[in-house]
Amino acid sequence: MDAAQDQLPAHASVIVIGGGVMGCSTLYHLAKGGVSDALLLERNKLTSGTTWHSAAQVRALRSTRNMTDLVRYSIDLYSRLEEETGQQVGWINKGSLSIATNEDRMIHIRRQAALAGLFGMRADTISAGEAAERWPLMNADDVVGAVWSPDDGRVSPSDLCAALVKGARADGARIFEDTGVVGILTEGGRVTGVEIDRGTVKCDAIALCTGLWSRAAAAMAGAEVPVWPCEHFYLLTKAVPGAESNLPTLSDHDGNLYIRDDSGGILVGCFEPMGKPIDPDRIGTDFAFQLLAEDWDHFEPMMHNALHRLPCLEHAQVKMLLNGPESFTPDSSFLLGETAETRGLFLGCGMNSVGVATGGGAGMALAHAIQHGAPPADLHEADPKRFDASVNSAAALAARVPEVLGKHYEIAYPGRQWTTARNLRTLPLHDEWVAHGAHFGQVFGIERPLYFNKTAEPVLTFGRPDWFNHVAAEVGAAHEGAGITEISSFGKIDVRGPDALSCLEAICTNRIDRPVGAACYTLMLNSAGGIESDLTVFRLARDHFRLMVGTAALKRDLAHIRNHLPQDADVRIADVSGDLAVLGLNGPDSAAIAAGLGAGWMNEIGYFRHAEGLIGDVRVRAARLSYVGEAGWELTCAVQDAPRLFKALKGAGSIPVGALAQTSMRIEKGFLAYGHDLDTDVTPAMAGLEFAIARDKDFIGKAALATDDGPASRLVSLMFEEKEAVPLGNEPVLAGERIIGKTTSAAFGYRIDRPVAIALINSRDVADGAAAMVDIGGVTAACRMSLSPLFNPAGDRMRPDRS
Ligand SMILES: Cc1cc2nc3c(=O)[nH]c(=O)nc-3n(C[C@H](O)[C@H](O)[C@H](O)COP(=O)(O)OP(=O)(O)OC[C@H]3O[C@@H](n4cnc5c(N)ncnc54)[C@H](O)[C@@H]3O)c2cc1C
Repeated sequence: MDAAQDQLPAHASVIVIGGGVMGCSTLYHLAKGGVSDALLLERNKLTSGTTWHSAAQVRALRSTRNMTDLVRYSIDLYSRLEEETGQQVGWINKGSLSIATNEDRMIHIRRQAALAGLFGMRADTISAGEAAERWPLMNADDVVGAVWSPDDGRVSPSDLCAALVKGARADGARIFEDTGVVGILTEGGRVTGVEIDRGTVKCDAIALCTGLWSRAAAAMAGAEVPVWPCEHFYLLTKAVPGAESNLPTLSDHDGNLYIRDDSGGILVGCFEPMGKPIDPDRIGTDFAFQLLAEDWDHFEPMMHNALHRLPCLEHAQVKMLLNGPESFTPDSSFLLGETAETRGLFLGCGMNSVGVATGGGAGMALAHAIQHGAPPADLHEADPKRFDASVNSAAALAARVPEVLGKHYEIAYPGRQWTTARNLRTLPLHDEWVAHGAHFGQVFGIERPLYFNKTAEPVLTFGRPDWFNHVAAEVGAAHEGAGITEISSFGKIDVRGPDALSCLEAICTNRIDRPVGAACYTLMLNSAGGIESDLTVFRLARDHFRLMVGTAALKRDLAHIRNHLPQDADVRIADVSGDLAVLGLNGPDSAAIAAGLGAGWMNEIGYFRHAEGLIGDVRVRAARLSYVGEAGWELTCAVQDAPRLFKALKGAGSIPVGALAQTSMRIEKGFLAYGHDLDTDVTPAMAGLEFAIARDKDFIGKAALATDDGPASRLVSLMFEEKEAVPLGNEPVLAGERIIGKTTSAAFGYRIDRPVAIALINSRDVADGAAAMVDIGGVTAACRMSLSPLFNPAGDRMRPDRS
């Protein structure tokens, strides 16, 4: 597009690769943010990949505030870009309507409306009659209600990109079309430039916005980017009476459809239950302004649903069945931020069908991450480091993404599990767990038992789940006898060398310099004082530490540690997660079990201390700590020894306990979990984790903590009054009519016989024992706040030395 094609600069601070909505928005925000030499390289023409044929609906409501805020930012940007740039973008704010045709969908919709309230957005639950008034062409016979979001709209994707690049150019950015990147240059694990067909351009950072081609593009820099395309269909009709004027966008999620008017005709798109994956190699690199073949057989069930919802289609003339490729990720959330593998390589891709809606805000967040090291607010759901390499095989992706497309419109029942791309990684005791009738869930590619003695697949429900009694029995074992939980999926990072201690002291908030044999709970913060991770550090020798980190945190924590080591540090970092198995043995009988197995030495271990010894013939490291609030140890052994250790413990009377029981107990005990209660927006003071801060030393984020004494909100425990309430987390908490916070984790607390939650509450509303209400799908449930753990606040059950 820039006339002087041969005048590519030798260097640019940031190179954006790809000229779809993500690339154009990122370029715009880089330029507005002061990166005056930003460059966009597009192999074909701007928008020629997926963006040009997008249905371009912009719906704001997402499952978290920060994701929602990205779309709200887009809405604001799209509505003012024309005035700023003089280029129209076709922004039409006609709102959106989501209908429900069954009671569970209504619950789903009411949960969404409640979330909208929490996020300060307008969204109203309306009757079927009101919905029909807003969409007169709709057959509303089976509609039971709807949610109306007046701020949503749609845009013209190509015009939007034209306005974004015009705005970017005004601030110095340059765009080169017909300029494909064929190589990414790296040095010492960091990007240094790109190779194009006519030379190289050096750079300090890359924004990889290459849509469905991102997996291959990132591989040029050695990074793992699990993105794979699916075919995505919409039907376009010629003019239909009644569709002449702009209508709201209409979603019939039960019928897998979205509907809008289009130039006087109707556009009906679908997220069918199982999509059609397509190998990106089959699409090729010169796929510009092209479409995939129509597939009426595949669309036929959707056509049936469409005819039911819009009887007027019967007489409409079909213009085309558009089939375009769109990229998806294994968990249906996009990728935004720096890769773990290659420094300076930032992703803005895998948009999962919301690229136009999210693009404005996501481009802003990506530009911010490139310029300031992190997005402006926590976006852990989009962190590229959340995926294990196992999910990035072509086979796993091709299996998973059709299901991801289908899940887009599914009711968001709690406990939904993916059915495809399973068994990518299994635990050392997997065969045992299968034999014990485990129902598995997948985290970081690993199969973890959720509960045992399953007789059938669990029925999805917003009510009390059918596994309730299974989990009750497992909690009972850990509380009254002894339970074994496999926690081998935790990440395990060994840090060794003469500088290991000083490096960890600088990265971790707690005092790491403790005697060999000590364990400590610590946080890692970013420079703004937000929590990057919480972990346990074991000192194994003077210059050898083992870090136990969350299952899904491994890649992120490894990158955080490596990125913060001084260049000349004499320290070795090793991921030993795959070498070691870890079993949690918990419950009042655990002491007798240890003694009975000839491991009386374990009973001598003090709280937050660890020691090595034998259980039977298995060498273990036993650490006296608990994530569930009961007496016991975390036992680490070699992977190959895990079955023998399990056999010994089980033979001595302990019962398998799954992840759901563990979660219930940790919430009851007020223990926090990263990704639920903790993220980078949460500070130690908000989380009540000041005890994990050693103020008498320096560490990353310390300076920011000085101003964090009076946080605006705090995490507290909630105990519900009604036993039958089923809180799920991510619900508004109310004082009267006023929203005062949200639940971050929830479960049934079997030991106190009440539903329990952890909630982030405005500090001014926090009071021990204060009454509150939680909006659970439109029904309020009474609860009380507690500033101490709901279960065993004295903590003596975990600490036999105190009982
Ligand atoms: C039928 C359909 C309907 C949709 N409806 C909606 C909707 O209603 N709302 C919504 O929000 N989203 C919708 N989407 C999704 C949305 O269109 C996409 O998420 C979005 O357009 C993706 O933008 P992108 O910039 O990530 O990718 P793309 O637009 O594909 O851009 C990537 C660009 O990178 C370039 N590129 C790749 N490799 C290289 C290289 N090596 N060197 C240089 N350039 C390279 C490509 O040529 C391409 O132009 C829809 C998608 C489809 C298919």
